[in-house]
Amino acid sequence: MNDQALVLYETPVEGVARITLNRANAKNAQNLNLLDALDELFTRAMKDEDVRVIILAAAGSDFSAGHDLRKLLDTEDATRFGDRSSSGNYNSPDGEGYMAREEDAYMHLCKRWRNLSKPTIAQVQGRCIAGGLMLAWVCDLIIASEDAQFLDPVVAWGGNGVEYFAHPWEFGPRKAKELLFTGDTFSADEAWRLGMVNRVVPRKELEAFTLDLAARIAKKPSFALKTVKQSVNAAVDAQGQPQALDTAFQIHHLTHYHNRAINDGNLVDPSVMPKMFKK
Ligand code: ZN
Repeated sequence: MNDQALVLYETPVEGVARITLNRANAKNAQNLNLLDALDELFTRAMKDEDVRVIILAAAGSDFSAGHDLRKLLDTEDATRFGDRSSSGNYNSPDGEGYMAREEDAYMHLCKRWRNLSKPTIAQVQGRCIAGGLMLAWVCDLIIASEDAQFLDPVVAWGGNGVEYFAHPWEFGPRKAKELLFTGDTFSADEAWRLGMVNRVVPRKELEAFTLDLAARIAKKPSFALKTVKQSVNAAVDAQGQPQALDTAFQIHHLTHYHNRAINDGNLVDPSVMPKMFKK
């Protein structure tokens, strides 16, 4: 790991923490180092009683290209789950170990971030692909610039979609199927029409607009904000989202197992993605 911080932390105005993905040269692709750093900084914002609203931003042209396909979770990473281990048997071959690693690196973190009691706002520009969607979706609000693009191409690689399968809630069931069947890109405007994005603003206004919104929310009573968040999340939970997420994640791992079986141990057919997913 180089010296440059993969994720930055600042408090640009009173009551607001801004956490910035800082791997712009890799389009903020997520490896385990970046996700660990992000989790640490969410924790820092939660512990700081002067912070009332958290912005999740990204440096460079794109919010996030998703999970880093050049180095997917491997058994080396298994040794690093100790402090927040809840799955275990990370080194187990076949499906068990890989599922455990994705549970702790993706699902458990996303569920934790989704339920942080302080309001969170994703500030999205450029491409937001697959694993990038997960980071935006776990935030309470999403502000996008006009150039933002959203897509989940995982079906082309033989999977059901990205691990945190919130697509039906974010787009509605019919558009979720279209997004997934085709792998097509949704523009910021279309994402706004579908209710996934709160506001679309010009690229040059994105940072200031998001910061102003965060500052306005930060003036509200913190306990009231917490209760709003818990109440809305409870409504989504009552619709069955937690169970549906868990079921889709288990199906996702059936596809990983299936694809390895038919692709000589590779997660994806190497002819589809020759430089990625090599075993
Ligand atoms: Zn996966």
